[in-house]
Amino acid sequence: MKLNKSRVAIVACPDYDPARVEEALKKGVDLLGGLGQFVKSGEKVLIKPNLLMSKEPSKVVTTHPSVFRGVIRLFQNAGMDICYGDSPAVGSTRAVAKKAGLLDIAEELNVPEADMVTRVDVPFPNGNLVKNFIIAKGVVDSDALISVSKLKTHALTRITGAVKNQFGCIPGLLKSEFHGKMTDDQVFSRMLVDLTLLLKPRLFIMDAIIGMEGNGPASGTPRNIGLILVSDDPIALDATVCYLIGLKPELVPTIIWGEKLGLGNYHDIEWIGESPDQWIQQGFKVNRSTGSTARTGSSKFTPLARNFIIPKPVIDPDKCTRCGQCVDICPVRPKALAFPAENNRKIPEYNYSDCIRCYCCHETCPTGAIHIKVPLAGRLIHSK
Ligand code: SF4
Ligand code: SF4
Repeated sequence: MKLNKSRVAIVACPDYDPARVEEALKKGVDLLGGLGQFVKSGEKVLIKPNLLMSKEPSKVVTTHPSVFRGVIRLFQNAGMDICYGDSPAVGSTRAVAKKAGLLDIAEELNVPEADMVTRVDVPFPNGNLVKNFIIAKGVVDSDALISVSKLKTHALTRITGAVKNQFGCIPGLLKSEFHGKMTDDQVFSRMLVDLTLLLKPRLFIMDAIIGMEGNGPASGTPRNIGLILVSDDPIALDATVCYLIGLKPELVPTIIWGEKLGLGNYHDIEWIGESPDQWIQQGFKVNRSTGSTARTGSSKFTPLARNFIIPKPVIDPDKCTRCGQCVDICPVRPKALAFPAENNRKIPEYNYSDCIRCYCCHETCPTGAIHIKVPLAGRLIHSK
């Protein structure tokens, strides 16, 4: 368990003006003692943004290009050898980076793309839950990982932030296999904590200039926040997000497990820079009900009871383009979501008895056609 106070730098940044963002990033890192605290000259640095899916920057699904640019310049100015990479669930790194506005910046600043496709077996005997991961070669080949996440809500883990960002270091569809095997959000969160303990990112930077509330991480609503957050403790950083958006950190399983397993601390945080009290986001839309986001304890229920209690994904036929990405990503066998055999021009249909509530379909849908519905019994059980 980490005993020292964890420091989180909070820096105001009102918009994505590249010069202002660069200045804010530099200030955040300097408040923590400067880049030299985290990387050494001659090390190969991998910058890992959030490239969840192919969306333009205005949709706030991915790390904003100005933040990406600012982080690159910070490391280039220090003479570091850098590359970038993330493995999206659907599509190539290059295609998603292009749409998100990151590829143009990487090319302009001569930052190569890391190999996020080749799989490397990495034993982790000290893992609490997972003793062996398959990691993208580009991550394994780097000396120092820099995690550049985005402040967003998430159907499974409530928020996606500093800890969840490392999931993109697992290549492609292997990610959904984890969802298929780990059918409880507590177990899934322990895996994410193990993964972060294994990869040991040196620094966690969060783009909280415009975040996402509501139906995140892919289809929520942009929310102006105006901050850059920086820390070397991902648990303290995610707990700071909770403080800002009015969410109890105890409701975020990655935070609970992260502290238990020694990844960081959320009880003793020193905030430097801005006082978070000035930046509280009143009415931020995030699920605050106890246990009802997802699969907490879902394995305790029979499939029938689960249908009446655990939140379930539902498709809005008016928004569905029948692209089939949700069907492709579904990790269970037989799939819990499929086009009707008799008419594949209809929208996909769920078999909720087989659905493990991983919400990969919700996360992957490119049109935001899938939302998470909390059944009435679930609302009654989990309401405060
Ligand atoms: S629900 Fe979304 S992902 Fe699934 S077929 Fe419709 S548009 Fe595609
Ligand atoms: S239908 Fe959606 S939530 Fe259910 S198991 Fe498949 S991907 Fe996961």
